Amino acid sequence: MTGRLQEPLSKAIGGRTAPALTKMGLVTVDDLLRHYPRRYADPGQLTDIELLTPGEHVSVLARVLEATVRPMRNRRGALMQVVVTDGRHRLSLTFFARHAGALRVHEHKLRPGATGVFSGVVSAYRGERQLTHPDYVLVGSDVDDADEAMYEASLPIPIYPATASMPTWKLQRAVRTVLDTLTEDDVPDPVPAAVLARKGLPTRYEALRLVHRPERDADYRRGRHRLRFEEAFVLQAALAQRRARAAQEDATARPPRPADQPGLLARFDARLPFTLTEGQRTVGEQVAADLARPQPMQRLLQGEVGSGKTVVALRAMLQVVDAGGQAALLAPTEVLAAQHARTLRAMLGPLAEGGLLGGAEDGTRVALLTGSLGAAARKEALLQAASGEAGIVVGTHALLGEHVQFADLGLVVVDEQHRFGVEQRDALRAKGRVAPHLLVMTATPIPRTVAMTVFGDLEVSSLTEVPTGRSGITTHVVPAANPRWLERTWQRVREEVDAGHRAYVVCARIHPDDDGASAGGKGGKAGDDDLPDLLDPSEGTDRQPLRAVLEVADELRATPALAGLDVGVLHGQMPPAEKDAVMARFASGQTQVLVSTTVIEVGVDVPEATVMVVLDADRFGLSQLHQLRGRVGRGSAPGLCLLVSTAEPGTPAAARVEALAETTDGFRLAQLDLEQRDEGDVLGAAQSGRTSSLRLLRVVKDADLIEEAREESAAVVAADPELAEHPRLADAIAAQLAPDQEEFLERA
Ligand code: ADP
Ligand code: MG
Repeated sequence: MTGRLQEPLSKAIGGRTAPALTKMGLVTVDDLLRHYPRRYADPGQLTDIELLTPGEHVSVLARVLEATVRPMRNRRGALMQVVVTDGRHRLSLTFFARHAGALRVHEHKLRPGATGVFSGVVSAYRGERQLTHPDYVLVGSDVDDADEAMYEASLPIPIYPATASMPTWKLQRAVRTVLDTLTEDDVPDPVPAAVLARKGLPTRYEALRLVHRPERDADYRRGRHRLRFEEAFVLQAALAQRRARAAQEDATARPPRPADQPGLLARFDARLPFTLTEGQRTVGEQVAADLARPQPMQRLLQGEVGSGKTVVALRAMLQVVDAGGQAALLAPTEVLAAQHARTLRAMLGPLAEGGLLGGAEDGTRVALLTGSLGAAARKEALLQAASGEAGIVVGTHALLGEHVQFADLGLVVVDEQHRFGVEQRDALRAKGRVAPHLLVMTATPIPRTVAMTVFGDLEVSSLTEVPTGRSGITTHVVPAANPRWLERTWQRVREEVDAGHRAYVVCARIHPDDDGASAGGKGGKAGDDDLPDLLDPSEGTDRQPLRAVLEVADELRATPALAGLDVGVLHGQMPPAEKDAVMARFASGQTQVLVSTTVIEVGVDVPEATVMVVLDADRFGLSQLHQLRGRVGRGSAPGLCLLVSTAEPGTPAAARVEALAETTDGFRLAQLDLEQRDEGDVLGAAQSGRTSSLRLLRVVKDADLIEEAREESAAVVAADPELAEHPRLADAIAAQLAPDQEEFLERA
């Protein structure tokens, strides 16, 4: 695609502006035009200087009285002080820079007599009100005519995401320069004209003018709405195309065995110690039918924590094994992979001992393949996978990247892995001669629009009920400041252990000497498996430091209430083999109290665990707490979750913890959680690389718009699957996919 939009800014603008824009990642005309204003200052509501209150963000219309630049007194750098007036009151503006030269641009513009709109946050300095580094737009600098100046001053002022070297007013000027040279023909519109007409939306060109040069508030609203629609439309069209292509792709059909030739699945069902829930049966039938088709299954299975997704997956795997294929089960962590292998072997019993003495004659094998295996065990597992001896291969998702060969991979099940998005699925598809069937499982309830955006090309099944016979979970909030309650907490742990049960104690970080922020941020010191998902690490900077696994374990060993108990430790920095050993000791009951990071968050299944104590619970996200809590109350004994909180009553953090104590409805909690987070987090939590192309669209807020776009785009793609009639839409889809393909290749 070439054209005016692809022109480099160095050509379109040139000068010193272009390099500064390039530094912000804005290289082409198109990049600049997609750099949308973050908000608009409203000069119609100019604040009276007299009424400025410190802390408020304001815009004032004022004239420059004087401007002085001088070196700073106590440190290096220069300071520019500008006094402006509205005719009656004075206000000072302050600009700092490393050297006086950097202030020259302001000096040049803010000459006495110049009039402008100045926006910033009001502060008070020595009793005087001032704006530090205000954004400003001069009025009347380009025009002599006073009427025009007044008109200019009445327009909404776009405020751009800016940097120190490229302030918003410079961006505004650059955008205008570029926009003024473009015509309707220069701006191809990916949304077909018929759709625009039906929805009453402006063209892309018009929309760009509306957001960058609005004449009134309604303009930029209309422009933004149209651009949002476009983002949703292009994304949904891409997903519709993927669905259409997947439906044409070949897979090996793996139909269930007929009743008169029972295989492993039938024998497994016969030895199942419980009856399947209604949901497990329904979803099982959907999956069985998908597997029987010669197109790859693309299914997402959502199911509340403890709803029994593993059995559904195992039954699907057995159907494939019965049909002569193999299945891979991918878990997000090595701990979970090892646990899955143990669970599957236990559930299958002799059926998983094919070829072994005492095993079922036509049984299969479950191979575990993780990075921590010794060389001999690894070779054995690889061999079992390659020869087909292992019908089921369990591992982390590294399994797909490694040089693991399968005799005939028919099904891939991905457990609890939100990062398993479109790109990973492409990698998977590239793996076999024909695409394997795919089942993605998640316990995080995903609101419909997020699912549509992130997993838009998957069919969705849900398990809504939890097997009966569970006694449920009671949740209480324990104020950390109350020593009697804390003491009682450890006594409750003791009582559970004395009754033959086990306890988790969850902490937000590993080492007591890490600072809280490092545990909270991704890429902090915690190991990969920990992924502590703390909300806003800065939220509690004035609060006590977060409790740490190693410190808490030592304390508990010295706590009288817990005397004589074996207290284990688990976190992501431990070598995988050690993690495994710790989990095995806990599962067997040798260890009764496990102090851990959130490494146990997903899928760990120890039915005897009945109590969970979460320290600093108020610092975790809601969904994460819900996931954590799902680790207890999985057996027949009731579960107890004690949320130790340092949150002040009445704060959002306290509300979060209380909400959790009030409901066990994962869907409601997920909605609440989303409301408390911002967009990046939402998509981050639900995964997807492709969302980088979403600039204005908000997947939760814009649910209706996404639905509309989905309908419209589905119709367009259905009528013209290769988009031969819609080259501009095809281009937009290609452009949207490109950056992530690169990212994907880098990772591979
Ligand atoms: P999740 O959906 O969270 O992965 P699991 O598959 O780990 O849940 O199942 C949780 C527990 O419930 C397991 O111990 C499993 O054996 C048990 N379970 C699964 N289905 C049923 C059922 N229909 N009746 C009783 N228990 C079940
Ligand atoms: Mg599970």
